[in-house]
Amino acid sequence: SNTTRLDRFISAKLRIKRSDVRLLLAQKRVLVDGVVATNIGQVIGPFSWVSFDDEVLQNQVARYLMMNKPLGVVSATKDSRNKTVIDLLPENERAGLHIPGRLDFNTTGLLLLTNDGQWSRNLSSPANNIAKVYTVTVSKPLDASYIDAFASGMFFNYEGITTRPVKLEILADYVAKLSLVEGRYHQIKRMFGRFQNEVLALHRDAIGGLSLDPSLASGQSRPLTQHEVLSLK
Ligand code: URA
Repeated sequence: SNTTRLDRFISAKLRIKRSDVRLLLAQKRVLVDGVVATNIGQVIGPFSWVSFDDEVLQNQVARYLMMNKPLGVVSATKDSRNKTVIDLLPENERAGLHIPGRLDFNTTGLLLLTNDGQWSRNLSSPANNIAKVYTVTVSKPLDASYIDAFASGMFFNYEGITTRPVKLEILADYVAKLSLVEGRYHQIKRMFGRFQNEVLALHRDAIGGLSLDPSLASGQSRPLTQHEVLSLK
C-alpha cells in the first residue's frame, strides 16, 4: 500500500539521516494531522497532513469524482491522438488523478477518477466481487440462449481464462442489462462476438451500489459524496 513510516518520510523530504529524525520529534517540531508526532515508527498515508516547523511537507487531499463519460474520449490520463477524460475536467482539478476501471473509447457512462490508490485497488480487486452494470444495444435480436451462455462463462483463448458468470437480462429485442464482476479487455464486445452480434452501444450504469448520477450530462463530472466513497470501500 501507499503507507510509509514517519522517519522514512521525513528523512527523504528533508534529506537528513533517519537517526536524526528522532531528534526533531523530541524537539516537538513535527506535526501529523495537527498532533505533535512522538513515534518515529508512526505509519502515515498519502493523505496524512505533515508539517515540520512552519513548512508543510505533505497536504494532499483525497479526491474522488464520477464522470458521465462521453463517446469518443479515451479513459487515460494521456493520449497522443485523442481527447482524454482528464481533458474534460477543469484544469485545476486534473493533477494526480487516475482511473480505476477504464471504459473503451466508444463506451459511455459511469467512470470514476481518484488520486487514492488504495481505494482504487480495493475497487478493482477481483476478490471483492464488485458488480459493474451495463446497458448494451446490439445489432441482432437477443434470445434466451444468450442468458445461459453469459452465465456459464466463455473461454478466452488469448488470456487462457473462462469468464466469470455474467448476469444478462433482456430488456428489449436489441437491448440487455449486464452485470459482471470482472473487466477483461473488451470483454462485453468479445462475448457478443461469439454470437456474431455486434455491440452498437455500451453504457455503464453502476459500479457496486454506486449509480451514475442522472443529472450529469455527457462529459460532466462531480465529486463523490463521502457516503458514496465509503460505499465502495
Ligand atoms: N466491456 C467492453 O467491451 N467495453 C467496455 O468499455 C467495458 C466492458
